Amino acid sequence: MERSKTTPSPIMLEGNVIPTTNVQVEAHVEDNPLSAARTQLAEAIDHLGYDESMYQLLATPRREVTVTVPLRRDDGSTEVLTGHRVQHNFSRGPAKGGLRYSPNVTLDEVRALAMWMTWKCALLDVPYGGAKGGIRIDPRFYSTTELERVTRRYTSEISPLIGPAHDIPAPDIGTDEQTMAWVMDTYSVLRGHTVLGVTTGKPLSLGGSLGRPTATSRGVVHVSLAALQERGIDRGRARAVVQGYGKVGQPAARLLNEAGVRVVAVSDQYGAITNDHGLDLAALEKHFTATGSVVGFSGALPVDGAEMLELPADLLIPAAIEGVINRNNADRIQATVIVEGANGPTTPDADELLIAADKLVVPDILANAGGVIVSYFEWVQANQAYWWSSTDVENRLEERMIKAWNNVRDHSERGGISLRKAATALAVSRVAQAHHQRGLYP
Ligand code: NAD
Repeated sequence: MERSKTTPSPIMLEGNVIPTTNVQVEAHVEDNPLSAARTQLAEAIDHLGYDESMYQLLATPRREVTVTVPLRRDDGSTEVLTGHRVQHNFSRGPAKGGLRYSPNVTLDEVRALAMWMTWKCALLDVPYGGAKGGIRIDPRFYSTTELERVTRRYTSEISPLIGPAHDIPAPDIGTDEQTMAWVMDTYSVLRGHTVLGVTTGKPLSLGGSLGRPTATSRGVVHVSLAALQERGIDRGRARAVVQGYGKVGQPAARLLNEAGVRVVAVSDQYGAITNDHGLDLAALEKHFTATGSVVGFSGALPVDGAEMLELPADLLIPAAIEGVINRNNADRIQATVIVEGANGPTTPDADELLIAADKLVVPDILANAGGVIVSYFEWVQANQAYWWSSTDVENRLEERMIKAWNNVRDHSERGGISLRKAATALAVSRVAQAHHQRGLYP
């Protein structure tokens, strides 16, 4: 990527201006999430006119740990797994971020995801920094009792670093509310008392929040409808494609459909399906519950997983993994609006191709922030031991998502920059302001 040679004016925030000197910072572009995250940061630093030291401060995590997780398997053998926890930034509050179980987890991926969490929390004005964790494991090949032992051992290893005032894990790919219950229980046993606020995304019976399971998807749908409207596309005539049928993709497809959008294709890691007239999502949910995959659903035709991203549609929601929209397929994407349900689904070079093709890309740090908003609500409720109704949760979620959408859209229009650059710049400026006001210790 060519870095901008211009010297833009700094963002004004509540009367404070961060001092600027606009030096060049290094940015490498590869299909690696950390490179993508650093490229986006470098562009924001350039746009804001900040100096290289601010880039250096924000390009690297404040703290990271790699742990060995020995697992006793059900057959009596021992397997040794690797886990990570990365805390990118705490300037605005405790670190916050998901815990991922996937065979593809790498330290660089976790670093990138932790950085994006910092921007997401700052953009949505949630009083947290960013973190992320992961274990290199394919949970499909382990029993529930094995996954419980892995989770408890990993939690013990990272327990000095986490806690309601330090770092608060939540579900991500391959983990769920049961995983969060095990983390909370292990941490509580080690502390000698119950600490509900150490995780979010817990079961309702253990201090979970109403509305948390669908929060990310609801947020995705709020901004999808706003983005369609922005492009003058009537939701009643809109066609949507959703990649990934997990905690984000499945409810997003259903909620879009309830909002009047025709969902014409969905996919999971086993394959993709399409129905040009619109999928019967209630029937698909039953098929998925029975079989564990969207593949083989009788109300649709199979389609290649990669080609499915390129189907004619108004709205494309990648809600699976990173890097799926890249330089090899970006120019074949037909959807006008792309809303990033997943973290990092678009590589920086693909981003440029999409913008050149006049696509509206709603970036991950805005689009999928519903989860961390309701995680914040869950933490607030746990700290107060006072629980809100689902209407309260959903109304407050919608209010924050729409406010953030308006803010990013206005900043993008004023600056003549993409939604991603606007969102990242707004977030980075808030984090930089916190650093500036706290000062440097010692
Ligand atoms: P999940 O494990 O519940 O679901 C992931 C889905 O993606 C599954 O359906 C899986 O089969 C599918 N998938 C995996 N590889 C695929 C591929 N190559 N092609 C098509 N589908 C594939 O995970 P999730 O929580 O839904 O997370 C999905 C994405 O959303 C991740 O990037 C995650 O970081 C992000 N995210 C999740 C939340 C949350 O609250 N769960 C919040 C913010 C962002």
